[in-house]
Amino acid sequence: MSATVGTRSALVEDLVLRYPEIPAEAVLKEDLLRTGIAFDEAALTENLDGEVKPKSYFIFSFDQKPLTELGAAAVQRPPEEIALSGGPWELRRTIVSVRVNPDSPYRVARAEGELRLSLEGSDLAKVTTPPMPEYYRHTLSNGKTVMETAPTIEWGYLIYLTVLRLCQYFGAKEECGFCDINHNWRQHRRAGRPYTGVKPVEDVLEALALIDRYDDGHTHAYTLTGGSVTSTVDGLPEAEFYGRYAEAIEERFPGRWIGKVVAQALPKADAQRFKDYGISIYHPNYEVWDKRLFSLISPGKERYVGREEWHRRILDAADVFGPSHVIPNFVAGVELARPFGFDSIDEAIASTVEGLDYFMSHGVAPRFTTWCPEPTTPLGRDNPGGAPLEYHVRLLGEYRDALARHDLQPPPGYGEPGTGRAVFSVSSFMDVL
Ligand code: SF4
Repeated sequence: MSATVGTRSALVEDLVLRYPEIPAEAVLKEDLLRTGIAFDEAALTENLDGEVKPKSYFIFSFDQKPLTELGAAAVQRPPEEIALSGGPWELRRTIVSVRVNPDSPYRVARAEGELRLSLEGSDLAKVTTPPMPEYYRHTLSNGKTVMETAPTIEWGYLIYLTVLRLCQYFGAKEECGFCDINHNWRQHRRAGRPYTGVKPVEDVLEALALIDRYDDGHTHAYTLTGGSVTSTVDGLPEAEFYGRYAEAIEERFPGRWIGKVVAQALPKADAQRFKDYGISIYHPNYEVWDKRLFSLISPGKERYVGREEWHRRILDAADVFGPSHVIPNFVAGVELARPFGFDSIDEAIASTVEGLDYFMSHGVAPRFTTWCPEPTTPLGRDNPGGAPLEYHVRLLGEYRDALARHDLQPPPGYGEPGTGRAVFSVSSFMDVL
């Protein structure tokens, strides 16, 4: 391929050539995740009535426009994920989480009965959509859907249980600058969509029973997650609130899935409580490594716990779960977000790698998601284009090198690593290992 200088195609092709150690599949996936995709109407799903699994909005919006500006995609949902293959680069199967952006240079459209991905009008890949799982066709006894209560992502690998749809870090002085969890809750409620703030334990168990019954062997793990709890929910502090779901799930389905919890970095006794309930992987997400940026981008975390204590608790948790089973996430790209971020890609990479080395030297391998600049967040509003693609591409190589330097394995609970095999859909870190 050869593209006109200054176009998105030229940018992607240039990076593919300059970083031959990173597969073209991963370069493209990162660009799709930071940019979003436009969908022709014919490429949208029939929601829960068709053959394609629709986007569930499993926690954040992960869209580059508010629901009210998505056009047809606000009524007829796009697919949860897409799998790319073939095309001029002969792509191996690459699974990408769907982030909708009607202004994107990437477009999915139907041509001669087949879905195709194009960039600035040039064909790039065949698009395969995830089939509607049988368990989505059944509802709970109270009429709620499995898609809303216990959606699955990563091509069906992971059951995503956002049991608290709101975060108690509230407003500009507390909410993480990249996070639209609270806004997303409001926009879905306003649109009249079912979107439960606190999911009853019984609903979660009933939805899991449907998955257990009808799943054809795809689901392997569940993640219990939601917003941070700084006071209580249902009268319970954070560890007890999330713990009650873990306890109930593991009592009812002992060892059926790999249990994971995403929560604040809690004191060791609380981490132990999760472990005792049967949770095997803990994600106390540190979001961004740099000290100044952490306090500016995650002011709630700084205020309620503090960066140093957050990091200490991550390492304490490694005593409880074993270092390989503590996997804190960071949001790749926010290091470069205006107005606070680093001025250069080099500085951002150096800082992020310092964080990787810090944790990995203790046997803890973080993982990352690719920042989606959602427009209703402060960082998304100021940086609609996200972070430079080159940062994302370089980070993939740096992450792989850091794992090798510390003699660590790919993190558990994400399925198989490798280009053409990975199912983790919100960054390509598993695609390049
Ligand atoms: S802790 Fe931050 S990232 Fe997590 S839900 Fe709250 S505001 Fe969002």
